[in-house]
Parts: sequence; structure tokens; C-alpha cells
Amino acid sequence: MLADQFGRIHNYLRISLTDNCNLRCFYCMPEENYDFTPHSKLMQVEEIDAVAKLFVQQGVNKIRLTGGEPFVRKDASKIIQNLGKLPVQLACTTNGIRIDDMLPEIVKANFHSINISLDTLQKDKFLRITRRDYFDRVVKNIDLLLNNNITTKINVVAMKGINDDEISDFIAFTKNNLIDIRFIEFMPFSGNKWSSNQVMTQRDILDIIKEKYHYVAQPIGFHETAKSFKIHGHKGRFSIISTMSEPFCSGCNRIRLTADGKLKNCLFSKHETDLLTPFRNGQDILPIIQSAIWSKAKTQGGQLNEQFEKINASIIQNRSMINIGG
Ligand code: SAM
Ligand code: SF4
Repeated sequence: MLADQFGRIHNYLRISLTDNCNLRCFYCMPEENYDFTPHSKLMQVEEIDAVAKLFVQQGVNKIRLTGGEPFVRKDASKIIQNLGKLPVQLACTTNGIRIDDMLPEIVKANFHSINISLDTLQKDKFLRITRRDYFDRVVKNIDLLLNNNITTKINVVAMKGINDDEISDFIAFTKNNLIDIRFIEFMPFSGNKWSSNQVMTQRDILDIIKEKYHYVAQPIGFHETAKSFKIHGHKGRFSIISTMSEPFCSGCNRIRLTADGKLKNCLFSKHETDLLTPFRNGQDILPIIQSAIWSKAKTQGGQLNEQFEKINASIIQNRSMINIGG
């Protein structure tokens, strides 16, 4: 079991496959010239498989693939094929662009669920947010997943002045679609020019929704980061991930592996623990993993533990989101 000093057990591993991406979302990828990690420095197919197996032996039973964009990696199919054989719930967070190309592999690997990121239902706004023209393809691919009965969730980073006018449109989308719309509070990372007054909090989101809809909160599991709500007569539901206004660190069961093989015990941790170098040197990495997890800070990487309105984003030491793996 992978426990920390506060008694939290970690059974959910998020693996970033790459820091490369076919979109350029302004809140995720820094604007200045960004150098993608060369392939040789990324964990290779067999390395991902071996390290994942080690985590599974230690009690990990859920693995989420992320990035960057996991499906831009040329050997993503092979990685998925391997991880699909492990006794875990396999999930993925993707921008959805390559779902059509990857569908046979996705079906074969028996994904538990796929999260697609889509911050707007407006084609022109999609271009402004992502700096790429893929709106139609992403929307078609959401339909493709639903038509194939694959559990699908939509991640929406809720930001004031960007998509606060679309909250009700997203809710309307849950009327006839068996889908979970997950609003995520905007978080600060290196280079993303975060400011607290852009954060749409859980309260802000619920206030907008209640003007039009009567919603009912669903029971929440101990490890859940998302609080879910149902609206009578809607096939789908909506959820809110309130990282900034109501953090959920006490039940955290997550650990992250960056594409270059560094273990992050928290999304907001300053420190990273290199697993790939010792692994390549033939060292036993289990004690390294155990000690990295043991030292996890009580809340938010020990960096953001104050009211989010008071956070000075410029002094946070972290990578950009695309580089950590969301
Ligand atoms: N490329 C994939 C995608 O977009 O889904 C996976 C990686 S992306 C970094 C993972 C998730 O993090 C996405 O849902 C994205 O919207 C979210 N994300 C990125 N930057 C964020 C930020 N600053 N605050 C909140 N969520 C963020
Ligand atoms: Fe790429 Fe996902 Fe980041 Fe957008 S949020 S730039 S799609 S990694």
C-alpha cells in the first residue's frame, strides 16, 4: 500500500504520456516558445508498462492516461494495449481530436471512461481558447463515443469572461445525452497568467444554474474530487471540481507520473522525484516511490494553503499544466 504520513492511501495513478499537444490552450501551455521533451527522455513503452505494474502490485487499481495530449504519441496504441491488460480501471483525459483514429484501440482496451476537454460550445471561441481549428472534429468524436456506449465526461475549465456565459448551454447538453459535464475551477500553474478574479467558483456556477434549473446533489464518495448533481428529466448530470474554493485534499488518493518519469505526489507539489533515471540504472525504485509518497504535504503541495483570493501565483514553484500532466 502506498501511504503517506497523514494516513492517505494512494490507489489512483495518473500517467502523462507526453508534454506534446495538437492544441495550444492558453491556460495550459505557456505562450513563449515551448520545447517539447525529446522522445528519448520520455518513458518508453516497456518502461511505462513495468512501472505501472509495480504501482499495481502496491495497490493501484485505477490508471488515467493524460498529457499533453496522450493520443498524439505515436506509440499510444501499444501503451494502451499493455495497460488494458492490467487489473485496473483504465481511464483517459484527452482533447478528443484523435478519438476517431483511436476508437478500435479504445474499445479493445476496455476503457472505464474517457474525459474529453471542451471549454466552449462555440466554434469561434474554441479557436480563441485552443488556437487551433478542431471544434467540429471534437464534437463529432464526443458523439462517436456516446454512440459506442463508452462512458464519457466533458471537462470544462470555467473561467470568468471566457465561458461563464455558457454554463446553461452546457447544462442543456445533459438533457438528452448520457454524459457528465464537469466544471473545473481555473487553477494557477507556471506561465498561465492565472489571477483569482478569473476563477468561477463552485458557488458562482451553482448560482447561474439555479436560475434555470432545480438540481439535486448526489452522494459523494470519500475519494471523489467532483461533486455531482442531477437535474430532473436530464439523462446526464453535471459535476464541479472545486480545487480552488473548496479543496478536497483530505481524501486524496492520487499520484502523478510525468512523461519524463518524475513522480509528483501532488498536482501542486514543488518537488518531483525522478523514477526514470534510477529505473534505467537498474535500481529498485519501490523505496524511492514509498518515501516520495510518505512526504506528501497535507494540502495543495504545501504551496496554496490559504484562501485562493490571496494566492500570489507568481511565487508558486511548479511546471506548466501541459508539462505536469493534468
Ligand atoms: N490534452 C488533454 C486534455 O486537454 O484533456 C489532457 C491533458 S490536460 C492538461 C488535462 C485537463 O487539465 C484538461 O481537462 C484541461 O482542461 C485541464 N486544465 C489544464 N490547465 C488547467 C488549469 N489551469 N486549470 C484547470 N484545469 C486545467
Ligand atoms: Fe493540450 Fe489539453 Fe493542454 Fe489544451 S488542455 S493545451 S489540449 S494538454
